[in-house]
Amino acid sequence: MTHPLFTPDMKVDHPYWWEGAPRPDLPVPDLPKTVDVVIVGSGYTGLSAAITLLNEGRDVVIFDAEHAGWGCSTRNGGQIGTKLRRGLTDLASSYGRAKAIGLIRETVHARDFIAGMIEEEGLDCDFEVAGRFTGAHKAADYETLAKDIEPYNKELGIECHMVPRAEQHSEIGSDTYHGGQVMPHNATLDPGKFQSEMLRVVLAKGGKIAIHSPVIKIERDGDGFEVTSTAGRVRARDVIVATNGYTGPMFPEFRRRVVPVGSYVIATEPLPKETMTRLFPKKRATSDTRHVVHYFRASPDNTRVVWGGRVAAKETDCRSSAPKLHAAMCHIFPDLKDVRISHSWMGFVAFSFDHMPHIGVRDGMHYAMGYSGSGAAMAPYLGHKTALRVLGKESDARTAFDDVPFQTRPFYSGSPWFLGGAVLWYQFLDRVGR
Ligand SMILES: Cc1cc2nc3c(=O)[nH]c(=O)nc-3n(C[C@H](O)[C@H](O)[C@H](O)COP(=O)(O)OP(=O)(O)OC[C@H]3O[C@@H](n4cnc5c(N)ncnc54)[C@H](O)[C@@H]3O)c2cc1C
Repeated sequence: MTHPLFTPDMKVDHPYWWEGAPRPDLPVPDLPKTVDVVIVGSGYTGLSAAITLLNEGRDVVIFDAEHAGWGCSTRNGGQIGTKLRRGLTDLASSYGRAKAIGLIRETVHARDFIAGMIEEEGLDCDFEVAGRFTGAHKAADYETLAKDIEPYNKELGIECHMVPRAEQHSEIGSDTYHGGQVMPHNATLDPGKFQSEMLRVVLAKGGKIAIHSPVIKIERDGDGFEVTSTAGRVRARDVIVATNGYTGPMFPEFRRRVVPVGSYVIATEPLPKETMTRLFPKKRATSDTRHVVHYFRASPDNTRVVWGGRVAAKETDCRSSAPKLHAAMCHIFPDLKDVRISHSWMGFVAFSFDHMPHIGVRDGMHYAMGYSGSGAAMAPYLGHKTALRVLGKESDARTAFDDVPFQTRPFYSGSPWFLGGAVLWYQFLDRVGR
């Protein structure tokens, strides 16, 4: 039965981004017997690593268990931020202020890295430096947001500013927030096109990709690895694991370090230009300070609202999540109550236990993952850094994340039994304004 909020042709489990960047049907290539590097996963981490390796003359085979870009990389909100999940005060209490600023600086490097890659490789992906507005969900959050931008203005030399509630209509067509923070150098892009364009470059540079070919076994063999996928076996000197929120039992040591958390998104039917201009006067990427965050933006062509968040304690289906996301959207934008939904989808964000991205080498395999919902720029950046480490360029490969331990928890092996309770608790805190 259809729902009054759904367009008659609404697409379920189908990201809006796949309209502009349809998932390619790639024939499985002839696999070489040996290769320099096997990459597991064809999202931003894997493809960015591949581009860096191919630029340095290495040969690369990428395996993906599903379509190319099946994971988060073609499902995300396309918001290019320069924040980690944790703000300055929180980071400084764990690592000290100097290290905290070093960690935040990496987010700026990540944003600049992808802007450079888009320019140099000619990636056609609607990259737009539209800035970001973060709304204060409760009055006290305004001060925290103001404190969090201090290092950008002082130490990082990047202009950021606060907008009080009385003036927030210059940023967002809503009265709900208690003012907010503006980071003008943040950006948006079309995440599907970004992944497709990176893939185009990888193929043009001679990289090989086998889709629908899960890696099912990796054995150490002398100074390399014997990698078995359902498409065949390849011997590789190095392996890069780029599976993030889709890390399965094949990689138990990584799986017990990332928590897959479903994040849900809808796109609306096209809206009049005047409505879009009123809601998003500067076309900012937007999110807020809720524990269970709302993130939303205008589509690149400025016709639709793309709205994301977490709507239920347990994972749910995208037909049920859509009306709940719609209700959240109407809480911020009440006049969208009759606007219908054209697409509903979800993807698995990989949270790490400390909510930090992680990069390194484990069991001889290189990895970068655990972006905790902020990987649209960080994943390509750390994919590139991982490739530099594979190339032996140790000083160029260095990041502030290198010495941050990639933790797990006792009795956790990859199935987050605690997630439902945690979501309910954080939703409660958001409701009571704590
Ligand atoms: C709904 C949603 C919204 C988001 N919004 C934002 C945002 O606005 N801004 C932001 O910065 N970040 C956002 N993120 C996070 C961001 O999308 C991710 O951090 C980033 O895309 C991770 O890229 P990746 O290449 O590491 O992993 P992915 O793109 O998830 O790719 C992993 C791949 O590994 C493959 N794989 C897994 N196991 C195997 C195996 N055994 N063999 C072969 N292949 C395998 C999977 O099929 C998958 O294609 C969002 C995420 C989601 C889900």
